[in-house]
Amino acid sequence: MHNLRVAILALFLLMLTLAPAMLNRSMLSAQEFDLTPYQQPVASDAAIPAEILYPPFFKEIDAINLKNIYREIRSRFHFFAGLRLEPSYFNCYKMQRRIDKALERMIADQGGLPFSSLDDRLLYDQRSPLEPYLRPMPLKSTGSCTFKSFGDLRHGGIAYCAYHGPDVNGSFYNEHFAEISRARPLFTSFDMVELIIFLPALLILPFIWWISKKALQREQPASPESQG
Ligand SMILES: [Zn+2]
Repeated sequence: MHNLRVAILALFLLMLTLAPAMLNRSMLSAQEFDLTPYQQPVASDAAIPAEILYPPFFKEIDAINLKNIYREIRSRFHFFAGLRLEPSYFNCYKMQRRIDKALERMIADQGGLPFSSLDDRLLYDQRSPLEPYLRPMPLKSTGSCTFKSFGDLRHGGIAYCAYHGPDVNGSFYNEHFAEISRARPLFTSFDMVELIIFLPALLILPFIWWISKKALQREQPASPESQG
């Protein structure tokens, strides 16, 4: 009788130790994507993050240094040569629009979004519920691109890149344009190059004025008194 009780107890202990391991294995085989972190409520009155107002990419290209001045001059040559090259960062905005399209498709298909925020993991995990709607797949135009969301995606929130910021042709950018412009510097590498180009013209203007004044004075007919 005693032996039987010990055996039952041993079996019970064995099940107790094995159960979590078995449960874990079944969960792994199901390969469920944990949406819990993406379903947390998002504060509707959150301040717009700095990476949206003045994205790191623009901080880099606005800085007044030789590399940026050279790039600005080259882009003007391209412009005058008739090459209307699309800025490289526009590719990132194209990718953001792919994300928007995927969200629209998911809403149309499922009647709503099962998450309120997104990030790279939700976009690129093969098990993500959003994965079937990402066609074509949004790629990263640079290694620095990191996709994120601001606000509740179910209530007007947006997807953006933490490096390039939100789409400059998007409604969010237009709606917050005043705030965005305030966050950016007044004088950038772009303005520096404008100044380099137009400063000689500004310096030449007084010379042109002085030369034309002298020339006009010389051409004036001499007064009768001096002819005397
Ligand atoms: Zn980007």
